[in-house]
Amino acid sequence: MSDIAQLRKNFPTLTQTIEGHPLVYLDSGATSQKPQAVIDAINLFYTKNNANVHRGLHTLSETATTQYENVREKLADFLDVNATECVWTSGATHGINLVAAGLTSQLTSNDVILISALEHHANIVPWQQLAIRTGARLEVIPVDAQGVIDTNVAITTIQKWQPKVFACSHASNTLGNIQDVKLLVAKAKQVGAITLVDGAQAFLHLRPNLRQLDCDFYVLSAHKALGPTGLGVLYGKYELLNALPVYQTGGEMIDTVSFANTTFRQAPAKFEPGTPNISAVLGFGAALDYLNAIDFQQMHQYEQALFVYLVEQLSSIEGVRLYGDLVNNIGTVSFSYKSEHHYDLAMLLNSYGVAVRSGHHCTQPLMQVLNLDGTIRVSLAFYNNKDDIDCFISALQNSIELIEG
Ligand code: PMP
Repeated sequence: MSDIAQLRKNFPTLTQTIEGHPLVYLDSGATSQKPQAVIDAINLFYTKNNANVHRGLHTLSETATTQYENVREKLADFLDVNATECVWTSGATHGINLVAAGLTSQLTSNDVILISALEHHANIVPWQQLAIRTGARLEVIPVDAQGVIDTNVAITTIQKWQPKVFACSHASNTLGNIQDVKLLVAKAKQVGAITLVDGAQAFLHLRPNLRQLDCDFYVLSAHKALGPTGLGVLYGKYELLNALPVYQTGGEMIDTVSFANTTFRQAPAKFEPGTPNISAVLGFGAALDYLNAIDFQQMHQYEQALFVYLVEQLSSIEGVRLYGDLVNNIGTVSFSYKSEHHYDLAMLLNSYGVAVRSGHHCTQPLMQVLNLDGTIRVSLAFYNNKDDIDCFISALQNSIELIEG
């Protein structure tokens, strides 16, 4: 545990003060902080190795290409899949849109697309648009009054609707709940569904093995897992991935071009037109190295212990109401305080140097179920510690006193 606590010093942003107070960063669900190694890798690329990839025969370009493709291999090892099954995207949002657009010709008005009620807008709207384009129906697995999916209800809903497409988050960004996606994917496949798991929140905290998970598609965002912004990954089982039509077109994704006709390369190249985000890929490579050097079980236990402490402390404040599954959780909790507006509390917390997120967290349908217009969300990562939680709780108590006068 203490080894994990030492890692905090690798994160330069965490040493600053905000509003005269040491920064307490509890918004890793929005984006994670970056270790120095990631910042150094991006710096090194621009100060020494900058060149385009897949284009030049000169030394710099060859080096950049090798390094860039090596990160794809490293990522594939990390996920336990093949490198040809990993497409670089600009983020989880891009990955879901690519798949949803690509499935257009496979759906008709007889088909159902099944998602869950706690999805991020990025895992709702692209499917809704697919439904509009094809006439398919968008159906939803419900959550209970706490915002939790009952696995048995989810299975019954899958069996009832026999969906053609099933898309579900691995972990909720608003509540932190972990879904039993392995089981749900298996059940959805039994009824013939194409399955997509949104791993934007889960990837850092759960380090999924995609071969075992056995979903058809999995998306993630590098910036939520120590890497840079503007980069994501779409994993797809090769046959299914390669069968999707091209999404955006342009340079590098083609085999031959004439004014009469164009032929395309095979996946993943066919989905990567134009100059990619090379520096971000190299930065993400450093993030994967960093994660590979940390014992996952130790990190997981550390995060879970911190989360238990956070929940205990928050629950002890009268008037605080917590939502979601507080046991099966990646380390994210949403709460409200009496009928106070989340925005006011978040502003007050910021005046104590505490960074939390407030609002609907891009899950408006979930907020409707919970009968809220927003919450305050605290999301942890392994670089947080008990002091962060103590500072947060004392700032929250001070803020409550100010509000109550
Ligand atoms: N899905 C979930 C569960 C998320 O938390 C997010 C980001 N908040 C996304 C999708 C979209 O990720 P991005 O904005 O990086 O594309």
